Amino acid sequence: MSGHSRAPDASSHEPQRTCVGCRNTAPRSVLMRLVLDGHHVVVDEAGTRPGRGAWLHPEPDCWEKALKRRSIGRALRVPAADVSQLPLP
Ligand SMILES: [Zn+2]
Repeated sequence: MSGHSRAPDASSHEPQRTCVGCRNTAPRSVLMRLVLDGHHVVVDEAGTRPGRGAWLHPEPDCWEKALKRRSIGRALRVPAADVSQLPLP
């Protein structure tokens, strides 16, 4: 082929995030974003809330690990964050 080359496959440049449950990285599109709303941790469904976010696979295993290790509060820099409002699976 000739001419200018197009940008390479954009999907390979999707930002990676670390799940606070299993600690594996994944494209942000497959993870849920958790943010603080006051003292409560909530799911940022639209992905548009400002501020620090914690990323988590929407899987019971990852929820359990994150809650057990309190990694959500740590990722949000608010160890006492209240996770009782989260819609646990
Ligand atoms: Zn995970």
